[in-house]
Amino acid sequence: MKKRLRAVLFGPQGCGKGTQGQLLADRFDVPLIGVGDLFRAEISERSSLGRVAKKYVETGSLAPDDLTNAIVANQMKRLDLARGFVLDGYPRNVEQAIHLDRIAKISLAIHIKISDAEAIRRLTGRLQCRFCHQTYHLTEAPPIKPGVCAVCGRKLVKRTDDTEDLIRNRLANYHFMTEPLAAYYRQRGVLLAINGEQPIPYVFEDIVKKAGKLGFKS
Ligand SMILES: [Zn+2]
Repeated sequence: MKKRLRAVLFGPQGCGKGTQGQLLADRFDVPLIGVGDLFRAEISERSSLGRVAKKYVETGSLAPDDLTNAIVANQMKRLDLARGFVLDGYPRNVEQAIHLDRIAKISLAIHIKISDAEAIRRLTGRLQCRFCHQTYHLTEAPPIKPGVCAVCGRKLVKRTDDTEDLIRNRLANYHFMTEPLAAYYRQRGVLLAINGEQPIPYVFEDIVKKAGKLGFKS
């Protein structure tokens, strides 16, 4: 029998988990669920939860656990999860992981590991077009013409939250809050540790190969 993929991904900012989540969902033909989408769905229902959630989304601040947990529970039970899923952006801490296992027992937790130095290198070089949202990197994927978006021709700016100090803060927060998920999922026997410091296709093949050994076939 085919093992059902109910996967989460976690790793520091810049590890590429968003990209890997999308690749994984495509390969296994399961929906990719972003926690941001669940928030937007709740808000569009104009529920009392949605009204509270709206304030956090509008100010860009991190929603408290109980609100996030309630929205995830509420919205996930409306989705057809029978085929499996890949969840992106949740859980962010062990408490949320315990909550999630009550809603849908996770069968694979992918920990994409990169060093702080690599995260800083990747994030400080990141450029994004504010108009068409195309992303570039100063050394990895530079625009053809320096400082100009190759897609829409407008001027490129660095994200204001990509200064080294702010990135270090986010990484410290990640190590404190989110990294303990590795111990939690290891204990559950569903952890997959992946070296994220390889090119994107290698990271993905690593995930597929190791998931295959655990019985997940695409
Ligand atoms: Zn552009």
